[in-house]
Parts: sequence; C-alpha cells; structure tokens
Amino acid sequence: MSSKLFQPDSCNRRNFLTAAGVLVVGSLFSCSKINDKSQRVSEKQLSIPTEMITMRIRVGKIRNKDGFELDGDHVLLTRDGWKLFSSNSNFTESPDQVMWVHNKETHTMIMVEKIKRCAGKISMHPRRDVSPHAFDIVVHVPMEEYLPGVIAGELYSHWHLTTFAAQAVAARSYATAQHLQRKETSYYDVSDGPSSQVFLGDVTLDVAHRAVKDTQGVLLTWNNTVVPSYYSACCGGIAAAASDAISSSYLHNIPPLYGREGADVCTSLNVHQWKVKRPHESVKKRLSKWSRSLSSNPLNQLGSIESIIPTKTSKRGRPKSFEIIDSKKNQHEITAKQLVRAMNTNYPTISEPTPKVRSSCLVASRLGSDIEFRGVGMGHGVGLCQYGAQVLAGQKMSWESILEWYYPKALVLSVS
Ligand SMILES: [Zn+2]
Repeated sequence: MSSKLFQPDSCNRRNFLTAAGVLVVGSLFSCSKINDKSQRVSEKQLSIPTEMITMRIRVGKIRNKDGFELDGDHVLLTRDGWKLFSSNSNFTESPDQVMWVHNKETHTMIMVEKIKRCAGKISMHPRRDVSPHAFDIVVHVPMEEYLPGVIAGELYSHWHLTTFAAQAVAARSYATAQHLQRKETSYYDVSDGPSSQVFLGDVTLDVAHRAVKDTQGVLLTWNNTVVPSYYSACCGGIAAAASDAISSSYLHNIPPLYGREGADVCTSLNVHQWKVKRPHESVKKRLSKWSRSLSSNPLNQLGSIESIIPTKTSKRGRPKSFEIIDSKKNQHEITAKQLVRAMNTNYPTISEPTPKVRSSCLVASRLGSDIEFRGVGMGHGVGLCQYGAQVLAGQKMSWESILEWYYPKALVLSVS
C-alpha cells in the first residue's frame, strides 16, 4: 500500500502559524473546493469560543435496578422517581426530573463496571426510553481541569512532555468542537471511553498537568472555526481523511482533516504493523451477521472466502472498500468501516472477536482454515498519530510543529 500525493485545493498561502499566547484574528484564506454553504454553517456552529467551556462528560450508564453509589450514598431510579438512601442535602431535583448534586471537591462514583473519582457538579438524567430505572450520569468539569484526565488516559505516562502537549491541544480542540455541536441538542458532550476520548477523572500524573498548563487555552483552528481534531493511536504511515474514516459531515471537509501527505514517521516502529488470524468459519459468520443489518449487499450467500482485497482507496492510499472473493469467484463489496466493525463486534453466537482487527488499512487472505489479516496502524488514522507524535517529540520537534505535521493548514490559537 503506497501513499498517493495530491493537491487538495487551490490554497497556497502558508497558513499554519504558531501564536501561543497571542490571539490571531482575521480571515486567512479561502479554498475553492470547500462548499460555501457548508462553510457558513461550519463557521456558525464551530465559532471559536471566547469563554472557558465547561465540559459535560457522560461517565456512567446505569441500566440495572441497583443504581450506583455516590460519595457513600446509594442512588436509585424507580418507577416513582429518585430514591436516595441518604440524608445528603446536596441532592436537588429539577422540574424535568434531572437530579443534580452540588459541587464538591471530589466525588467518588462506584458503578458496576468501574469506579470514577472527579471534582465538579453531577447531573443524573432519566432514560425512560430504555427502562424505568435507567439513567445516565454526567459530570460537569471546566475544560482545563478535564484535560489532564484525558491525556493521562490516552498516552503512556513515560512519553515525552512534548507529545503530551500536542495531545492536549488535539484533545482540547476535539472536546470544544463536540461541545459546540451538542450544547443545544444533548445533555452531554462526550463519553469517557474511546468512542469519544478517554477520561480517567482526577489524575495525579505530573506530565499531564504540565502539558495542559503549557498549552492553556490553545486550540487548533481553521478559517476562524475550531477544528474537530480527531486523533488515533497509529496511522500506520498513511493518514486517513476524516470524511472517509469518521463521516461525510461538512464539518470534515476542511484541509486540516484531509490527512497529511507522505509517509508518517510511525513506520519506524514495529508497532505500526500487525497480523491477526481468525478462523475462516468465524469470519464468514461475522460477515453474514453484519450484512443482515444492511439494506443491500447481503453476504449470506457467501461461499468459502479466498481473499479480501482493497478496491477503492483514498487519495492518500488507505482502503475505502474491499472486495471479498469466494471460492465460486463471486465478488462482494463491503466498505472498510463495515469490515472492521463486522470483525470486532461482539455477537453472542459467534466466538469472541480477539485479537482485534486494529485498523481498516489491511489486506486479508486464506491460510488453511484461517483468514489472515495483515495491516498497518491502530484506530481510524485521522489527525494526530500518537506513536508518530512520540517519534517526532524524540527528534526534538516542538508541539506546535507536531500539530502542523498532522493537521495541515491548521492555525494554532491561544484563546485564554
Ligand atoms: Zn503515524
């Protein structure tokens, strides 16, 4: 798989500018390939905020009748309403049945699957659409207090301060974009797991706190809007475009999210390559199961699989779709995202999806009774590549230059 170079648009002005500590304003440039209407909507929705944002993080989904424990008190939701095994006067119920807990230095939440400790207000939102006793737990944390718990969860603690700083800016920009998109339509901005970005809660890791402080208020922007700066563990050497790997939203049709040109430095690390074997029967069952959820492209007639090869590729050279060729020489097409999801989803009737297929940058072939997947990268491959950033930091590149490397044409702004 080789990377293909291309010219994404007609922009030629050098428009990445490091301005930490200085607010840079003014129109930078216009690009002929960006849809004007989309750009106007994007500008309105993702305008650079002038005040500190308080993030709303969903840290718990209570779906059983046992509720959870908060600061030593037990909290349940019954058909009749909230039930608190406590005399804690900090609880208040709002008219829309949302339960609030007032500020406290640090809350301890004990749920079935995890324990979370963090400071900030807490709100609990009934999910009657799921069941009478279901509710979500949301913590409200100012952005700069939220970020150390994100980057401490996203990176290895022994990695360079510079890597943490680049990651802090990416995480802040991503979180800000999520907040701006969801503030009018949802009671939370992000969850605390890898489907948005990891949030460990309160952490003591010094390098994480230093990185957030060193980059305080710094955002990645493009054309006076916040860049939804996705990032992943490893791009495998070939950057993905957000419009291919995340969604075709107009918010993703901006140069910083097209993906950088040329091979990334993560290819110097063994970790960028992987090989996974899965039993042929399990792969076939998974593809058949997945195809049932689609309106077209049924794979339940699939014969014995011979190979899975990329058909369409992105401008940078990452697979966008695959052709599955069976022993009868039938050809079935599936998108790259669908293939990875089909391989990694937990289905009760099929053996566990381990080891995981780590990215969609792969080829697969029959090897006896197995299918062998060979690929590069971990995750979607859009934006900052965490392993690559660590390599660049080791080469003494600044965090501003690392961001320039992974988000072409973005502008670094300090809005604090
Ligand atoms: Zn990379």
